Amino acid sequence: MSIMDEVKKEGVVIARKGDWQVWWHYIVPVFWAIAGLLFPREKKNFEERAIINLGKHIYFNDPDHVNANLPRYRPTFVHELVHIKDNKRRPLFYKITYVLSKKWRCYWEFRAYSQEMVFRYKDGEIPPDYIDFLVEVFRDSFYFKMHDNIRPAFERVADLASNGKISLFEFPEEFEVIAKEEIFS
Ligand SMILES: [Zn+2]
Repeated sequence: MSIMDEVKKEGVVIARKGDWQVWWHYIVPVFWAIAGLLFPREKKNFEERAIINLGKHIYFNDPDHVNANLPRYRPTFVHELVHIKDNKRRPLFYKITYVLSKKWRCYWEFRAYSQEMVFRYKDGEIPPDYIDFLVEVFRDSFYFKMHDNIRPAFERVADLASNGKISLFEFPEEFEVIAKEEIFS
């Protein structure tokens, strides 16, 4: 099944900046503007990279991000689909813990970025500096400083992926062990 088929199956609504479909889409740019004031170092990132996922709605701040048919954006859709599926599974728990708990936000993002990684393995090579990039993402203020050193966790997921022990949109028991030891301990 292609990523676009998954997007359709989950009934995902794609919204881009300036394309207001429901009233609360208006809140999103305001949220990013406030985040930009709180974390000026990330302002540019919020403006260019920011993607927010509200239930079934994926909101892209950068309109170029929207096309899942472009290979470079497919991993992003994989990432957001993980959030959508997690939110569907445990709607209230997911939203509350994502916002209020740093460890849980880290766990939910760890799931999403791990699946991006699985997708990149499946699709070919993982760029050599990809884990370095993830370590920074988890450390910096873009996600409000989730984890000081997520490297060992992603190295363990990379091992699972290269041994075919984790597949797209699946989380084996070993994955939960990694999360428990590297995030919640
Ligand atoms: Zn995410």
